Amino acid sequence: FDMTSSDYYFNSYAHFGIHEEMLKDDIRTLSYMRAIVQNRHLFEGKVVMDVGCGTGVLSIFAAKAGAKKVYAVECSKIVDQARQIIADNGFSDVIEVKETKVEEMELPEKVDIIISEWMGYFLFYESMLDTVLFARDKWLKPGGLMFPDKATLYLCSIEDAQYKAEKIDFWDNVYGLNMSCIKSVALTEPLVDTVDPEQVMTNVCAVFPIDCATITVEELSFAVPFKLTAIRNDYSHALVAYFDIEFSHCLKPVSFVTGPHKKPTHWKQTVLYLDRALPMEQGEVLEGTLACRPNRNNPRDLDIAIEYEFKGRHSEAKNLLRYRLR
Ligand code: SAH
Repeated sequence: FDMTSSDYYFNSYAHFGIHEEMLKDDIRTLSYMRAIVQNRHLFEGKVVMDVGCGTGVLSIFAAKAGAKKVYAVECSKIVDQARQIIADNGFSDVIEVKETKVEEMELPEKVDIIISEWMGYFLFYESMLDTVLFARDKWLKPGGLMFPDKATLYLCSIEDAQYKAEKIDFWDNVYGLNMSCIKSVALTEPLVDTVDPEQVMTNVCAVFPIDCATITVEELSFAVPFKLTAIRNDYSHALVAYFDIEFSHCLKPVSFVTGPHKKPTHWKQTVLYLDRALPMEQGEVLEGTLACRPNRNNPRDLDIAIEYEFKGRHSEAKNLLRYRLR
């Protein structure tokens, strides 16, 4: 039968392997644990919704933090294990598992707190934030809390001659054959990989800060300016995007960063290769616009565009580059 992109998306969460990867990402999981379990004063006696509970881990954190009731919502088949895990750990009386899409869910009451781990590559890949915002608008009490509530997308530039040669220029000469037609396709695919902090050759620009309490789905299609200043004389081969996450309601705010200067997470970073190497002197500026929106045919994919302009001592360049994260 015909599988829609949505079926593929939810099927990918049915297997424990993807949950193993997320749970073992201790930067991620420990941040949620700290934010929830160490803030009993926020959770005690409250009604909580866990949007996309997976194995149920965050729901159990909320129950441990004293929540009166937790609705653990999940539509992929991992929900069977979530039910078992919640029972095996003695939380069935507090946590109610809801096997449904969040968008189709019925609840007897509104909730005080929404917890969710919705972030994807490039922050927005897989568009699960749409689902969290739907839950917020339909089920969160006025004045209720989002966990996490703040996220920021960052951009910087890297020197990456060696890897760019291996991944992009490789196609120019493959065992003596000209396969360069693949090169232009390869350039349009952002690479999810960890970047060595030594490669970063500009400052970092916070391009898109969001507040999960107020942002709308429409605002998740955006175009924002960036301005990157070289911190040394070096070549710019690519732009690198990453994000941070904050639980700002915590007594001691909890946050984590997925950038190259920190311990790697399973999100790594997202590398967008430029069409050419830009020779930049320290202090010279690469500026432009970063645009991003869900793809029309498959809204889980992202269409990303970078329009840049560079006027340096050694070269001048401007271009509009399009990428698709799929
Ligand atoms: N909360 C878990 C899992 C996070 S992964 C943890 O932190 O480890 C996100 C989960 O959300 C996946 O299991 C996915 O199947 C589920 N999900 C995504 N969109 C959903 C939707 N619209 N309705 C219900 N569940 C959804």
